Amino acid sequence: MDIKANLEAVKKTFNNQNCLLVAVSKTKPLEDLKVAYAAGIRDFGENKVQELQAKQPEMPADVNWHMIGHLQSNKVKYIAPFVHLIHGVDSFKLLREINKQGKKIERKIPVLLQMHIAEEESKFGFDAAELNEMLSNPDFLNLTHVTIQGLMGMATFTENTDQVRKEFRGLKALFEELKSRQLPSFVQLKDISMGMSGDYLIAQEEGSTMVRIGSAIFGGRG
Ligand SMILES: *Cc1c(COP(=O)(O)O)cnc(C)c1O
Repeated sequence: MDIKANLEAVKKTFNNQNCLLVAVSKTKPLEDLKVAYAAGIRDFGENKVQELQAKQPEMPADVNWHMIGHLQSNKVKYIAPFVHLIHGVDSFKLLREINKQGKKIERKIPVLLQMHIAEEESKFGFDAAELNEMLSNPDFLNLTHVTIQGLMGMATFTENTDQVRKEFRGLKALFEELKSRQLPSFVQLKDISMGMSGDYLIAQEEGSTMVRIGSAIFGGRG
């Protein structure tokens, strides 16, 4: 697996060079992350708290650590001090816990709200009604130690690119609609995290600002 060559090949296909590449290094050994780092990558994505905690001290301090997986409330405290961005916030409960942990260490923690855009039941995320319910909850205004900097979504795992495009387009439309609303100042919508190895080009065409790419860089995860 030539990680450096893969990175260059992936980057070359980007149709938006300003789109941030988050290298998804879950399950991969530190040597692989170090090769990517040497090739210029500073943003790494992991989906397990334990693995993130183990890798973080072993890598240079200027790495931006992205928590991209489903996050349990009781594990927020372990990553709160150093996490760069939590992509998968899918409940008000989790958001409140992140806020609580941020308050303890006097840090505003950057997050994205994960929206359920796929057809599969199994993918996490808010639906539109749940999102509206949270945004109109008076307690929402009391959040002081989070910054909501955008949305995240995962498309259906399918060969049907029209469907994938439609799902990404829906997420972008929601993002624009939210931007037009009056929301508290800790909501600063600038990012849409969408696109993985199999669909990042479509995601970029539909307005992604961050793609989370694992296997196209590091190879399959077995
Ligand atoms: C694993 C994972 C990715 C990367 O998937 P690839 O298909 O390997 O690029 C992206 N996002 C999330 C949330 C993941 O869990």
